Amino acid sequence: MFSSSATVYGEPDETPTPETAPRRAMNPYGRTKIICEEMLQDLCAADPEWAVGVLRYFNPAGAHGSALIGEDPADIPNNLMPYIAKVATGALAKISVFGNDYDTPDGTGVRDYIHVEDLAEGHVLSLAQLRQGHGHLVNLGTGRGYSVLEMIAAYQRATNRQLPYEIVARREGDVPISCAKTEKARDLLGFEAKRGLDEMCASSWAWMQAQERRND
Ligand code: UDP
Repeated sequence: MFSSSATVYGEPDETPTPETAPRRAMNPYGRTKIICEEMLQDLCAADPEWAVGVLRYFNPAGAHGSALIGEDPADIPNNLMPYIAKVATGALAKISVFGNDYDTPDGTGVRDYIHVEDLAEGHVLSLAQLRQGHGHLVNLGTGRGYSVLEMIAAYQRATNRQLPYEIVARREGDVPISCAKTEKARDLLGFEAKRGLDEMCASSWAWMQAQERRND
């Protein structure tokens, strides 16, 4: 099983993006994912003993419902949700919204956020198929995109706190929209994301608060 990424699509012609869309990464991280996917495809072609599951993650978000497993980057987070979470705790002053002039409903970047527990369940389903010798290459997402401003609003609802933000320049290499076409994962794995954005924010916040208590 290989953890690939929606990054392999670069700026796709089509969203929601099907697995058949061309691979054209916009950054070195995406290139590493493409090269690994190609190596695994070659391996499977050369030796039919192999069955590989390539899982293209969209934007993992949230934490485990126990509040015992989550992400707490030691450095300043690069990803949106952990950054918002640190603003909510007061560890960071405000969110920088990278551009509001994209061709999206509110001008900010749209992403398909998937709850980490849904993502974990996708892996279990992938393993079940691999055990039967069935390889696959699938997107793992929800098929629904949210903008940066919608993410901030959702996190505000979960925390009941006002979260300051400012609009700054676009971040180089960012695409306007990334959203999964989900039918292939449903048909091949029986996968469907069950958890919504509010659950992602609530679980992230529960995890952050538990971390604060643990660090006290
Ligand atoms: N983003 C933002 N401020 C941040 C981090 C991210 O506005 O501090 C935006 C980013 O431009 C993108 C979205 O939030 O539209 C998700 O970014 P993230 O880095 O989490 O994921 P990726 O870019 O890999 O999809």
